[in-house]
Parts: sequence; structure tokens; C-alpha cells
Amino acid sequence: MCRHLAHVGPTPVTLASLLTEPAHSLLVQSYAPADMRGGGTVNADGFGVGWLRQVSEMGRHGDPFHSPGEALLYRRDDPMWTDASFLDLARGVTTTALVAAVRSATVGMPVSTAACAPFRADGRLFSHNGVVRGWPHSMADLAATLPALDLLTLEAATDSALLWALVRARLAAGKDVADAIAGVVAETLAAAPGSRLNLLVGDGEQIVATAVDHALSYRTHADGAVTVASEPLDPDPAWVPVPDGSLLVARPGGSHDPPAVTVSAL
Ligand code: GLN
Repeated sequence: MCRHLAHVGPTPVTLASLLTEPAHSLLVQSYAPADMRGGGTVNADGFGVGWLRQVSEMGRHGDPFHSPGEALLYRRDDPMWTDASFLDLARGVTTTALVAAVRSATVGMPVSTAACAPFRADGRLFSHNGVVRGWPHSMADLAATLPALDLLTLEAATDSALLWALVRARLAAGKDVADAIAGVVAETLAAAPGSRLNLLVGDGEQIVATAVDHALSYRTHADGAVTVASEPLDPDPAWVPVPDGSLLVARPGGSHDPPAVTVSAL
């Protein structure tokens, strides 16, 4: 099963400080994950990272091509460890918010760049770690609630891409991210019992994540940042495991306020 990670904080950090440098970084989790509850041994079917672009990077007159708070994306359908250019790039890119994933494709699902999380829309980044049972038949009724165009433009023929489309439909209907995520988890579990549904959304201001039949941990940092990850990035006791069946909402703190992390039952 894939591994994913999100970070949000007041201070820019390099992608490498989360993805490649820690003792049990996402890079290490791609070839030596420690807690693959759903089977699979490595996460070698691709990877991706999306990060929020700083407004200050756009210059005094703004950037005519991109809007503030835009999420930038780097995805590949190769193992992270084979991409030496990414290992360089990760040391040079800084951000205050990112979502990243390494993928182990579920049997029967395509291996392609477009199937690699994170998925992006409207400054939000999404990842799914797990599997929808009985895919795709179990999801026919839920998929039918989507506009035809959303189905025709699904990024990949995968459970994760459909879950993201379902989340986006709820956001478009005015739900906030936590409600949208919790709603999609509840409806998917009803349609496809036994599914593993660790969903993760980052939008630059908050991280919303679920733990449903898969590993998830979080930690806060002294500067007010929060990191959420399938597996702790190092042995630091600051990592807190998230109980199964939970919804986590994390907002960063600042120099005066601590970060706010709530973990509630789904
Ligand atoms: N089912 C999803 C996919 O194939 C996620 C896979 C996983 O978590 N291993 O992309």
C-alpha cells in the first residue's frame, strides 16, 4: 500500500527535509516501508509531490500566469530512488506546505504518471493510501452521482482518482474539506465494506486526513509546523499514532500560538 505525507507550517522548508533526508523519509519508505498493513512490499510504481507556491516568489508585480497559493506538481511513474534529478530538485525547492506520496499500484490498476498522487485541483492536493474493495463495480452507484464530464475527465482509471472526484463534488456543493472527506469515507464504506481509506488533503492552510484500516501518525514542530505521515519519518517520540477510524484536522501555529491538531472518531 502506498505511503503518503503532508506538511504545513509557518516557515519554508526544503522538500528534501521531509522527503529524502530523514532516517525513515518517504524515499526510504518507497523501498523499505515498515507498516504495509494491506500487503505489497515496496512502493515502486511512481511517486509525486505537490507544494504550495509562496506568494512572495511571484515578485512585486505578481505572476501573470499563475494565481497566488497555486499548487505545483512533480509526478513520475518510476520509483523515487531512480530519479536523481528529483533528489537534486528536492534540495532546492522550499515551501510551507506540501503533500507527497509513493505508490504501490493496486492489482488491476494502471501504472502511469496520472495515477500517482497527489492529485491537484483549485490549490488543493489529495492522496489516497488504500484500496476500494470490489472496484469498480462496488462504486457504480456513487460514480453515477457525478456529472458525466467529471467521469470523462478522471485522471486515471483508479479508485483514488474516483475518490478525489467524489471529494471535489462535495467541495463544489459547498462542504468544507473535513465534511467532504468524512462524507466520502462513509459513503464508500457503505458501498464497499472493508475498503482501506486513508485520505489526505492539504490546501496550504490545513491538513485533513483519515485513518481507515491503515497506518497514520503526526507530529508538531517547535515553530508551529505539523507533519502527517503514513509512517513516522524518524524515531523521535514526538510522533503520535492516529487511531484507526479517525479524522485528523491540523492547522499550523505561529510564533505565539501552538499548532491545532484535532483527532475525532469518523
Ligand atoms: N489503490 C490506489 C492505487 O492503486 C492506492 C494504492 C495504495 O495505497 N497502495 O493507486
